[in-house]
Amino acid sequence: MKPDHTNGTVMTNRSTAPSAPQETAAITDAERRTRIDLAACYRLIDLFGMSDMILNHISARVPGDDEHFLINPFGMMYEEITASCLIKVDLAGKVIHNPNAQYTINLPGYVIHSAIHGARPDVACVLHTHTPAGMAVSALQCGLLPLNQTAMRFAGGVGYHDFEGVAVDVDERQRLAANLGSHDVMILRNHGLLAIGRTVAEAFVNMQRLERACQTQLLTLSAGSPLHMPAPAVAERAYQQLRHAPTPNPDGTHPHPAPPPRPATAMDPSATAMPRRGRLRRRRWVFPAIRSPRSIPPPPARPSGRPTLPVRCSAPLRPSPRSTKPRASMNGRG
Ligand SMILES: [Zn+2]
Repeated sequence: MKPDHTNGTVMTNRSTAPSAPQETAAITDAERRTRIDLAACYRLIDLFGMSDMILNHISARVPGDDEHFLINPFGMMYEEITASCLIKVDLAGKVIHNPNAQYTINLPGYVIHSAIHGARPDVACVLHTHTPAGMAVSALQCGLLPLNQTAMRFAGGVGYHDFEGVAVDVDERQRLAANLGSHDVMILRNHGLLAIGRTVAEAFVNMQRLERACQTQLLTLSAGSPLHMPAPAVAERAYQQLRHAPTPNPDGTHPHPAPPPRPATAMDPSATAMPRRGRLRRRRWVFPAIRSPRSIPPPPARPSGRPTLPVRCSAPLRPSPRSTKPRASMNGRG
């Protein structure tokens, strides 16, 4: 079944989308925190080299309302994502709030993420990537192998979903959810990687671990030497140790050394830019590079010699001609 193209759904094209950004919108403190975490997660995925231009998507369920989730405006680079630009959509595809009418969300993004949020109420965040290592392992018949300690984190369960073409058919949601099952990660065959978490931080860490396991597997296989596989019992023991350590929080979540906001804001505070509490007005929601590019100061001069990572990442975003033009399309790859 193809998605509906009626008014008000995520499948709506620009001609029937809201003609102007909504003037006001009330958000809860919980949604504010989720927006900040999610925007920071986009920045970190980019920093860790796991972004793919404007493609891919990360979503977070809006706390207190299981039917709504936040996702990126299709057309923005991950480095441009802010807490206030994220689009709120419900599981049926209706856009609840979109501060920038020239953008909408990616249709495959809606299909993939609504599938998981709809089937797994325990999931707070869904993360999907197209990294070279992830795509390479997704094309291996053997899938992810427990070749090292990092990979053994997933020895107990990885979902696999066969490629059906670009995910624009809502019927695929049922198969996506079934293939993920109760796992934390899923390899989309001939496509890429997917990770979930009960928090945004947990999803990020799951994806970062999975990505590293894929990279290491490819390095190992490229050596051309016979593999030394661990005993299944050892892999299972390591899986139990790594999945449940360190000691979980009282709510069952696991503490992680780098929750998204901290490293992201340390590099670029704009990642978590949000208005003050209360009702949000349009002028505060528009991405700065679109609204007033002339107001953005030039980046500071780089020190001589090899630039360090914080210097590069702390520079304000440069206004770009493409940032002033709509780039959204509902039929892009996801
Ligand atoms: Zn994809």
